[in-house]
Amino acid sequence: MAMDDDTTHPAALWERCDTVLLDMDGTLLDLAFDNWFWLEAVPRCVARARGEPQAAVRERLFAHFASKQGTLDWYCLDYWSEAVGLDLRSLKVASSHRIRYLPGARTFLHQARATGRRLVLVTNAHSDTLAVKKGVAGFGEYFECCVSSHEIGLPKESAAFWPQLRARLGFDPRRTLFVDDSRAVLDTAAGSGLAGVIAITQPDSRAPPRSVAGYPAVSGVSALLA
Ligand SMILES: [Mg+2]
Repeated sequence: MAMDDDTTHPAALWERCDTVLLDMDGTLLDLAFDNWFWLEAVPRCVARARGEPQAAVRERLFAHFASKQGTLDWYCLDYWSEAVGLDLRSLKVASSHRIRYLPGARTFLHQARATGRRLVLVTNAHSDTLAVKKGVAGFGEYFECCVSSHEIGLPKESAAFWPQLRARLGFDPRRTLFVDDSRAVLDTAAGSGLAGVIAITQPDSRAPPRSVAGYPAVSGVSALLA
């Protein structure tokens, strides 16, 4: 099916679906926070705590990050707190004033809810991170429920995650839409038979848009209602 076919246009997919599964970071909340936290704040704090040069800490830490990408550990505050010997939950709480909606995302959530659709947050974020982020300007109030993949024991990148999510939520995949900014996650979601899978191309408001070939795409969620 061609991607510019009317039936795969993001707005057409939106119209066909009564359940919308939404990723959190990079889809609704600005990935600028997470990029700052993991790529700047954490290395800086580790370097300070250990009295090591930041460059050496960054090199070691980024290699460790890369080795865990796509696994639950990659998203796990406990894992990284243990790995770097710092209480990262406290650091995240202390930085929570930096967490922001992506442009247009809050209005989108408000309007999407008003359409009567079932909105479910489906995130790889650790439940501690989810708790911090739900405190941001009413964020938690828009969803029927929020699912952290840590509760299921598998990341969204795992094909086995999706049947388990469906069993837990009881949605009809033929009328369910999923929106995410991660290519690896979109791939497993699409493989699970959902009616629509939509890519976000600008997850970080401070970075240029990127291309996510192979999926209907919008720069941000507000375009779904346009
Ligand atoms: Mg994301």
